[in-house]
Formats: sequence, C-alpha cells, structure tokens
Amino acid sequence: MTNAQELNSTSTAADILARQRMAFLNTEPANLKQRKAQLAKLRAAVLEYRSELQQAISADFGHRSYHETDVMELVGVVQSIDYLSRHLRRFMKLERRHVSLFYRSAQAHVEYQPKGIVGVMAPWNYPVSLTLIPLATALAAGNRAMLKPSELTPRTSEVLERMLAATFPVEEVAVVLGGPEVGAAFSRLPFDHLLFTGSTPVGRKVMQAASDNLVPLTLELGGKSPVIVARGQVNERTIRSIAYGKLSNGGQTCVAPDYALVHEDDVEDFIQQYHATVSRFYPDGPHSNDYTSIVNDRHYDRLQNLLDDARQKGARVIEVGVKPESAANRVRTLAPTLVVGAHDDDAIMQEEIFGPILPVRTYRSIDEVIDYINHRPRPLALYYFGEKDADCQKVLKRTTSGNVGLNNTIIHVAQDDLPFGGVGASGMGAYHGIEGFRSMSHAKGVFDQGRWNLPSLLQAPFGRFMELALQVTLGKKTSSSKL
Ligand code: NAD
Repeated sequence: MTNAQELNSTSTAADILARQRMAFLNTEPANLKQRKAQLAKLRAAVLEYRSELQQAISADFGHRSYHETDVMELVGVVQSIDYLSRHLRRFMKLERRHVSLFYRSAQAHVEYQPKGIVGVMAPWNYPVSLTLIPLATALAAGNRAMLKPSELTPRTSEVLERMLAATFPVEEVAVVLGGPEVGAAFSRLPFDHLLFTGSTPVGRKVMQAASDNLVPLTLELGGKSPVIVARGQVNERTIRSIAYGKLSNGGQTCVAPDYALVHEDDVEDFIQQYHATVSRFYPDGPHSNDYTSIVNDRHYDRLQNLLDDARQKGARVIEVGVKPESAANRVRTLAPTLVVGAHDDDAIMQEEIFGPILPVRTYRSIDEVIDYINHRPRPLALYYFGEKDADCQKVLKRTTSGNVGLNNTIIHVAQDDLPFGGVGASGMGAYHGIEGFRSMSHAKGVFDQGRWNLPSLLQAPFGRFMELALQVTLGKKTSSSKL
C-alpha cells in the first residue's frame, strides 16, 4: 500500500504512525539534497492543485475569492517553502560550542537532528497554509509527518489528502481525515512532536492528551488581539490597515485585530473613516467578490448572537460600508460592523470574535490601555498605530503578546524570518524562521574528548592536575593541597 487514501480506509492512524516510525528508524535521516527535493515536490504540487484548492475553499466557505486564497494562503506556502530551501544549509550546520579551560583540546558541538514523526492538527480558517507551512517545516527538519486537517472544510481537506497522496509515499507524509473524535484520538498518538493550530479550549485538551506520552508541543492558539490607535492617529493609513486586517477572510483570521482601543476624542472620526474605507474596499458591500462568507451556520449564528447581546446591553451597533441593493445572492454574508460602547463583561469583549465585527473601546491615557491589556489573557498579536515615541515604547516594554505589528496589521505573519507563535493563553512555541526548524529538530550536544587532553588528567586517581583545577575553579587552595 503506498498512498494515504488506501491506508485511511484500511488502517488506523496508529498503524500509519507505526509504519512511518519504522521507515524513519530504518533509514538514514534525509540529507540537505533530499530535504530540498521534498520541498520542491510540495511546491510543485501546490501550484498544480492551485485551481482545485481555490474552488474547494470557496465551496467550503460559501464564498471566498480565488484572489484571497492566492494572497492569503498559496503565496504564503510557496514563500515559506522558498525561504526554508534557501536557508536550510545554514539551519542544518553543526554549531561549534565552547569547551571550558580544563577540557581544552576536546571539542563540543550541537547537531540538529530530525525528531522523527511530527503530527500536525489544523483549523478551518486558512485550511491550506496552516496545514502545509507546518508540513514544509517538518520536512525541512528531516521529519516525516501526519496531518489532521479540519472537518469544517471537508472539500479542501479532501483535495489536500489527494494532493499529498499523489506527491509523497505514506511513509513520509499521510493525511488523516475526521472530526473532533478523530482529532482526540490523533492527539493521543505518541508523536515525536505535535503542532496544533486551533482554539484555546481545544488546545488545552490536546495538551492534556499529549502529556500522557510526553509529546513535545507547539500550540498555535487564538484569543483577542488588540489594536491601539494612539491619540490623533486616526488617518487613512491607520484605518486602511485595520480594515484590511479585520475584514480579510471575513474576519476569520487568528491574528485579525479583535477590538480597537481608540482615544475618546477620536472615536467619531474613527467611525466615519472606517465607513469610508470599507465602502472603497468593497464597492458591492458584503456581496463584493473579495468579501468572504462566514464558514458555517453555527459561526454565523454565534456572531449574530454577539451583536444582539451587545445591542441589548446598550452598545451602538453600526453596519458600515455599502449596503447591497439586491437581496442576498450569497450565503452567510455578515456586513462589516462596528460596536461602540460595549461593556467589558459583554460576551463581545470576552470571547474571540473571529468575524467582521470590530468593537471600539475608548481610553483616556496610554497607562489605561496597558492596564486593560495586562488584565486579560496574553494576546497572539498586538497592533500599535502612532509615532515611535515614549508611549509606543511603553506599550512594547510593558505588554506581552505573541508578536507585534507597528503601523500595520496581520502582515507580520508573512515575514518568514520572524518566529510566529503565541504566549500564555494564545499558545506556546513558534514556527516560521529558524525557530520553526529548531522546534521540530532535536538539538543534540556532542562532546568529543579526543585522545590526548586534560580531562583524562582530571579523572581518578586524583592528583596534581585535579588540585590545580579545584584551585582555579573555586578560587583558593583546598585543604588537601600539596602545591
Ligand atoms: P478548533 O480548536 O475547533 O479545531 C482545530 C482542530 O482540532 C481541528 O482539526 C479539529 O478537528 C480538532 N479538534 C476539535 N475538537 C477536538 C478535540 N476535542 N480534541 C482534539 N482535536 C479536536 O479550532 P477551529 O475552530 O478550527 O479554528 C479557529 C481557532 O483557531 C480560533 O481560535 C483561532 O484563533 C485559532 N487559530 C490560531 C492560529 C494561530 O496560528 N495561532 C491560526 C488559525 C486559527
């Protein structure tokens, strides 16, 4: 049996893992050339299946423009692969390490060794890039991989499975399909590393399951990422960037600005400019080709409930942008919406929104902003719009978030050389950059004593050299000193 489809139907994920592990243990780890060849195969497959992936994602979401899939997913995957291929020789290099005085003439180095089999669990919101960038990282680090894509984008998951089965033998890369039960079983497997991308509540369960086998984890989770607009900084650049980050993929982006902190004097200006920018971005309102639908009815209803709850509790709920003239010709489109004056304990200010709704909370001083953020779970991303002045420095120094964007939103994710990951409730560990390669490699320290060197003189039976070593290390003569 050589492809994942056959295996999926006839054996369990545990069997696939056993096959991959046996192949891993019975073969030399992939060298630079072999790893680059695997990355090249993955790159070619993505380009070959580009149109199928675009169609599948759009069908899964109800609507997502092919252009958005290209920009937000496929370009990211190809760029990541190119980055890894370009830097792999450097990443794989042995690192010489310092040898302390008494061990001189010996040598020490670190080798980055493949961990073995990496499990990858992916969410539905960017179903291609959040599956394939972790896969590319695992392959670059010389591993084999098993992927568990989301059940909420079934057509895309099916194309991914077919594409990878046609590209790699199942002993190298396999796809396991299914919902939460399959996910739960998958997270219990004794992988050598597990990268989970998804919600914080499911992340907790995955960590518990992985702990039984002491499987090391990268957790890429979600949460509420704030965007801070410094006083007097409501301008075209700021608003364009916030609207872009909030409304791409219909707001269904882990690093989207979840809510905005705007100085109380600037709020009305913010609302007006946001409305004008959104009208320009989406000339046919929520029916514009580049406006993505909400992925399913459950999420659509969840978002409507957040709005109803805020409205009932007295917030201003403002639909912005162009109102479509015709009746809806699209499923599950939710208009870009601002919510002003929600209370801190309203659901919309407590839960991750994951949709095209932006609550605007006012502030009076930057200290109040820092305090607000620091009393909440640590966010995946934090955005700051303004001069790089003392307030900006204060925010950078006194808040902790996965990453930070200064005068931009979301595009830090496209910087391949930056680590990407959360902190606290938004995750642990990171991928992208050398951090990704290292998280999926074992840093093995090797100490080579050589034939002639001091260490042999320091070992029992203890004598003059041991005394010398003790004196130098401890800083004084020992009681037994004969020197
Ligand atoms: P989710 O946690 O519901 O699902 C993620 C994966 O876990 C899916 O493959 C799913 O099948 C599986 N799963 C579901 N229940 C499970 C269980 N009990 N045990 C084991 N596995 C289970 O997340 P989602 O709704 O697909 O994605 C949205 C969430 O992901 C948001 O919170 C978002 O912020 C987060 N996210 C984070 C990043 C990041 O890079 N940090 C990127 C995208 C999305």
